[in-house]
Amino acid sequence: MPKEESVSEGDFEQQLCPLCHEKTLILTERETEVPYFGKVYLFSMTCNNCKYHKADVEATEQKEPVKFEFEISSEEDMKVRVVKSSEATVKIPHVTTITPGPAAQGYVTNIEGILNRVKYQIESLKEAAEDDEDRQKAKNLLKKLTRIAWGQEKQKIIIEDPSGNSAIISDKAIKSPLKVKAEK
Ligand SMILES: [Zn+2]
Repeated sequence: MPKEESVSEGDFEQQLCPLCHEKTLILTERETEVPYFGKVYLFSMTCNNCKYHKADVEATEQKEPVKFEFEISSEEDMKVRVVKSSEATVKIPHVTTITPGPAAQGYVTNIEGILNRVKYQIESLKEAAEDDEDRQKAKNLLKKLTRIAWGQEKQKIIIEDPSGNSAIISDKAIKSPLKVKAEK
């Protein structure tokens, strides 16, 4: 994670783990300022017993459901800051979709950090692939990701977050309200 100026932090040890119910969880809270987004809380929980890990980000002010669209078109774009909460869906068309949910993580990173996570995911898929076709598909995607990172291939990235706790921080990013389906 890129360095942020830390405003305050706290560590809480011997917390109850939601998974194994042992008092072996370490909870870390940190407040940080993300330029053009505002103050965010960074949470991280790690259990020493069952290795449960959860990290998330939350803006200190109430945010509206939001959608960000961004086109990666140069190497310079790798540095663009991204705030991604665990409730965000990250769509990288023709590559992958990072889905929200209880197992999803939230973090402050940049475009490069997002691509690296995707790369890692595809590399594990490649390792686990049973047939040559799947392995070749994964290889092609990895090559594509490298071309995107070098600014040789344009790639759209879309983040949708009903909690509003996500953002792509760039003048090039298109921000719009996210229509959330009404729940009954
Ligand atoms: Zn545990």
